[in-house]
Amino acid sequence: MRTQIIILHRYPYGDTSWIVKAISPDVGILSLLVKGAKSKNSQFKAGIDPFAHSEIEIRYNRHRGNSSLIIPKEAYLQNYFPKMRSNLQSLAIAQLMAEILLKLGNGRSHASEEFKWLLNNLEYLELNNTVKENSLSLWLHKLCDILGYAPTLLKCGQCGQEILQGPADLWPALGGAICKNCLGKRKSSYDPVFLQELGSFANGKSEEKQISWQRIENFFLGHLRVHTGLLDNLKSWEWLLETRRLGSG
Ligand SMILES: [Zn+2]
Repeated sequence: MRTQIIILHRYPYGDTSWIVKAISPDVGILSLLVKGAKSKNSQFKAGIDPFAHSEIEIRYNRHRGNSSLIIPKEAYLQNYFPKMRSNLQSLAIAQLMAEILLKLGNGRSHASEEFKWLLNNLEYLELNNTVKENSLSLWLHKLCDILGYAPTLLKCGQCGQEILQGPADLWPALGGAICKNCLGKRKSSYDPVFLQELGSFANGKSEEKQISWQRIENFFLGHLRVHTGLLDNLKSWEWLLETRRLGSG
């Protein structure tokens, strides 16, 4: 079969080969053994570089699933995202997305959506050669949504009223936002500035400052961490924070 892939990670195997982890919309996470790929004459070339979007021809056995190593015949490069690669922060965002998808592992039922939104965000990072401060927030929110964990932000979880100015608090037991009336005299467990930022984000506004986006990213990342139990010690998260410190210094 022929399938699209985005390369998430790879490591050397022997002197001449790579083991490549990739996500495919049809199959989920794949492990590819690419023999002889380090040789100059290999037909794989950039098609198996990290974050490359390629099309591959594989012999895929539905009964054996994708737990085994698959040996692809060829890889046809679709997009290399050169501008994303030349920007350290954008590259760090791509690395974080890849690490998260690898840690989440193989829910094949979500594969096509996970692939689609990873591709979508790589294309977004590729635009105009500028850092997209909101890209990670958008992607993390989308991932919560795909996995069925997205908190409700535009409607009160208690009374159902529409929330326009940002939630008064977030109550996980009720699925997310709570309005002012329902919160009553209780104290909110979140900073009101953050709740307003989250409200504007939920309403599709994107003119926030970098620090606001970082709070929103942190919120959704924490949310995913709690719900999946799989996202502790993300190496690329530390790296992203480091590149931002470099970028602003
Ligand atoms: Zn309410």
